[in-house]
Amino acid sequence: MIDLHKLTIVDAGKGLRNKDFTARELTQAYLDQISVKNGEINAYLEVYDDALSQADEVDKKGFHSPLSGIPMAIKDNLLFKGKHATSGSKILAGYVAPYDATVIKKLKEAGAVLIGRTNMDEFAMGSSTENSAFGVTKNPLDTRRVPGGSSGGSVAAVAMDGALASLGSDTGGSIREPASFCGLVGLKPTYGSVSRHGLMAMGSSLDVIGPITKTITDSEIIFNTISGLDSFDSTTHDLKNKNPKSPKVLGVPYHILENGGIKEEVLSNFKESVEKLKSLGYEIRDIKLPNISYSLAVYYILMPAEVSSNLARFDGVKYGLHIDGKDLLGDYLKTRGQGFGKEVRRRILIGTYVLSAGYHDAYYNKAIMLRQKIAEDFTKAFSEVDAIITPTTPGPAFKIGERVNDPLAMYLEDIFTVPANIVGIPAISIPSGFVEEDGVSLPLGLQIVAPHDCEDRLFEIGKKFETK
Ligand code: GLN
Repeated sequence: MIDLHKLTIVDAGKGLRNKDFTARELTQAYLDQISVKNGEINAYLEVYDDALSQADEVDKKGFHSPLSGIPMAIKDNLLFKGKHATSGSKILAGYVAPYDATVIKKLKEAGAVLIGRTNMDEFAMGSSTENSAFGVTKNPLDTRRVPGGSSGGSVAAVAMDGALASLGSDTGGSIREPASFCGLVGLKPTYGSVSRHGLMAMGSSLDVIGPITKTITDSEIIFNTISGLDSFDSTTHDLKNKNPKSPKVLGVPYHILENGGIKEEVLSNFKESVEKLKSLGYEIRDIKLPNISYSLAVYYILMPAEVSSNLARFDGVKYGLHIDGKDLLGDYLKTRGQGFGKEVRRRILIGTYVLSAGYHDAYYNKAIMLRQKIAEDFTKAFSEVDAIITPTTPGPAFKIGERVNDPLAMYLEDIFTVPANIVGIPAISIPSGFVEEDGVSLPLGLQIVAPHDCEDRLFEIGKKFETK
């Protein structure tokens, strides 16, 4: 019997090489768990019918990479040639991916077994996976609660032992927030370090694909596999950080923790994390990020602006759903009106507004200017400290239904995660302890943020923190 709950990629790799089990047996163990749990949790939208034959292929070819034979789940906004992909939306019903996303190609080359595609907030817009057209995903640690979002399905798949690891996408926190809600490690890599080719675009200047895993080492293994220059995405670059520096000084922007909205338990857990890091030898310094309080406002202007433009392609002609109207405009209105959910329509409207002729200077251009200011704040901070730490979220996983009618409360969930996307720097969420609510232990996360291409610092600090 394989103990799936404790298994890591590193352990599984050893087990496969030692012939303790085959890739088929390992995959079968996950499929069994999915058939027990997925009905309730709704982590997977589809389990691929060729998962076992992918595993057989790896068993035949041998284990040439750390991901060979490792069962993984992928978010429903990643293209896997010949398979359905819907981005959690009715508008892509029936759509079949015509090519592999670069990350999928790389995972296939590494011999990973792709088990299935996971539920998500429609087009990655949300923090709870309640905005999916295919039902809510439940948090496997407490099924009354959300798993976080938008990569809630990818995170729940790992948390319910339905995959050993998964891929998500992060535009404003969608990997880190759900990872922290489910007690897992979630990495948002440096913008452009992982190709977006074959990722359905939400906010193109913010989107990044990243891993969800149980350990930091596993996160590093997947990051090393999927990152790198790609001729299909001109924003990619090769990893420049050839001269890694061992981090010593960590900055804490205490001023942002003082502004309301953060639960008392989160603050005390964060203080414990700070003490733990001190005992590991890190120097902690109070830093100022003067413009950071504008981050959410900037994000909720730039992101919808990009969304409104990226989602213009779903016109009822090129992809998926088509509903007949009286004429061409009628086709558009019907298809988009019925194909997109409420949150997506809200963001298209906001985005169209902030980009419209009369308001462009007042909103979009101001947000672009502030984005620069926020980036300068981080550059200055990183001249004094090697990495910055904050809680990942203001509270633990909230209850299903609690915030669906209050979009602003939902948006506030992203307060700590959004700045890294605005600036393009890497950030990781790692488990930092638990808080008791309603008699259940709910996990919390510590976020570590580093300068561009300094993922190695996140891994180093994370590994020390994790083993202490
Ligand atoms: N929760 C944020 C939003 O709704 C972030 C989403 C994401 O990172 N994809 O936009």
